[in-house]
Amino acid sequence: MDGAGKPVRVVLLGPPGSGKGTQARLLAERLGIPQISTGEMLRAAVREGTPLGQRVKAVMEAGDLVSDDLMIALIRERIAAPDARGGFVLDGFPRTVDQAAALDRLLAGNGMKISAVLNLSVPDAALMDRLAGRSGQENRADDRRETVLERLRVYHEKTEPLVEFYRRRRSLTDVDGMGEVAEVAARIGESLEQKQAAGGVS
Ligand code: AMP
Repeated sequence: MDGAGKPVRVVLLGPPGSGKGTQARLLAERLGIPQISTGEMLRAAVREGTPLGQRVKAVMEAGDLVSDDLMIALIRERIAAPDARGGFVLDGFPRTVDQAAALDRLLAGNGMKISAVLNLSVPDAALMDRLAGRSGQENRADDRRETVLERLRVYHEKTEPLVEFYRRRRSLTDVDGMGEVAEVAARIGESLEQKQAAGGVS
């Protein structure tokens, strides 16, 4: 199903360096729906020097999380945009249990629900290798080694409980994130189809 059919609303979870951003982009392109990447939105705000950008710059550079209040306000506005009506791939949001609960409320308030929560799993050692490689190629201020370590620590502390939150509700599908980009993309496609065949997430 694509943007012209029943809306597909996917939450893509995964640690930093799991390939989440790349896979979110590929999936969104394939489905003809927007990729909503909160990291990209924040980086754009920093680049443009907007008031939001000025508020979040130091937090992002340290590898910490931006406050739930700011993030929820940002996503509330983005999800309400006309291009998100046909569905979306959420990349980087939610990142905490409070953000997930807010997302549920936000969607329910608009008569919407999540189609699938997919969790890209990649072992820490592989994440470190990938992130170390990325710092040379992409000009991301948060890809320095100590920041990478901090982002992984923050992921385990704040975002992993969210994985358990969705798992307990039986709404989570684990997807092996190791392997070639195309292989992982195919696994994501299959998982999503299975989820939709089963009627999606309640
Ligand atoms: P990402 O590109 O998703 O890895 O995000 C880059 C950085 O943006 C993160 O390390 C956080 O500082 C910030 N960020 C992105 N999304 C969120 C979120 N949902 N909650 C809090 N901080 C976020």
